[in-house]
Amino acid sequence: MNSKLAILGGEPAVKRPLGVFNAIGPEEKAAVVDFLDKGTVLSGFHGSARPSFFGGEQVQAFEAAWSARFKTKHSISVNSATSGLMAAMGAIGIGPGDEVIVPPYTMTATAVAPLIYGGIPVFVDIDPDYFCLDPVLVEKAITPATKAIIAVNLFGHPAELTRLRALADAKGLYLIEDNAQAVIAEEDGKLAGTIGHIGIYSLNVHKHIQVGEGGVCVTASDDLALRLQLIRNHGENVIDWLDVKELSNLVGFNYRMTEITAAMARAQLKKVDVLVERVERVCHALTAGLSDLPGLTPPKVRTGCRHNYYMWSARFDAAIIGTTREKFSQALEKEGFPNAGGYVRPIYQIPMFQRQIAIGKNGFPFNLVGKTYSEGLCLVTEKMHKKELLQFQPVSWDVDEDQVAMLIEAVRKVYQQAESI
Ligand SMILES: *Cc1c(COP(=O)(O)O)cnc(C)c1O
Repeated sequence: MNSKLAILGGEPAVKRPLGVFNAIGPEEKAAVVDFLDKGTVLSGFHGSARPSFFGGEQVQAFEAAWSARFKTKHSISVNSATSGLMAAMGAIGIGPGDEVIVPPYTMTATAVAPLIYGGIPVFVDIDPDYFCLDPVLVEKAITPATKAIIAVNLFGHPAELTRLRALADAKGLYLIEDNAQAVIAEEDGKLAGTIGHIGIYSLNVHKHIQVGEGGVCVTASDDLALRLQLIRNHGENVIDWLDVKELSNLVGFNYRMTEITAAMARAQLKKVDVLVERVERVCHALTAGLSDLPGLTPPKVRTGCRHNYYMWSARFDAAIIGTTREKFSQALEKEGFPNAGGYVRPIYQIPMFQRQIAIGKNGFPFNLVGKTYSEGLCLVTEKMHKKELLQFQPVSWDVDEDQVAMLIEAVRKVYQQAESI
């Protein structure tokens, strides 16, 4: 009584196509209109010696709200998580030839951030259950040149943060969290993003809470907070005023957030629990409805952790299921279940690493340290990318209860007929 697969001309299992989700509602619109009604100073920053060096009213109110929600001493808003990652590298003093341990399964910005300071990304593999840095391999990769570890809380699941922080502290390294995907995820009651020395959040349009473009760095350190603020806003111009001449080696940029964005971001932040719970509901149902299929393993959650399901990432075993991930993924797509196989390629496979050239023409900074980025460097990541990972990005879609049932039905339908596609 199997119905015909949509890829073979049958009816799709998802009878009502998923709508695109829009996180921006009346609250955000009202925040923007209220702000515009009050005045039209669209950026409250000045890159010079005066109180507005630290940002305008909306920016400062947003940062205070963020610090309260994430129970952190300092929040430094920026115009993207990419800017935040770069600011973090500058704040911890990464310089030419310093090694920074990063996972290869992440967005390129994680690995490019050290490079712009002449630092060398050292790729360490992920664990096959939660897809985050493997702490045993991290420890082995530490050399006298290592300065920092960037842990990525990938797909919304925390890396082994407490363990990595202890390792970093024992070795005199910084732990930086790329928490772009893992807002309000938790490890042992602590919020992801707040366990490392600096945590970076993204407010990009694709994330759980978003304002189009934006980001936030959090830190418990007064010193790192000041450095982040200097890097965000032409800090070289104010070191005499702030009487911190020892920081004259911090090159500043313009990573500032506008007042409109900050007003909207404060409204989005108020909805963070609702927006994450919306996604969790869908993913818990998907996992529950698909946990009995040999060869298809729904995402796992480590004991004590909260996963925010930026991605619902299942593992796919072609030998058991009887078809390739690519064919399965295409058949599923035709059933009306938007999905993708494999996330991004391991970062070291992009041409910049393959050719070992990033800045200038002579291979800087790769020429400072003899590292290679050959095939097989991180086998777990390569396997997940090429063969095993099958993903759905629930943040992007509006999915009601009936539709979740249809998504489950779509997977079961393709699964049962996998050998015929
Ligand atoms: C989205 C993302 C970033 C970059 O965030 P932007 O705010 O777009 O700069 C960095 N790292 C990871 C893991 C991401 O998912």
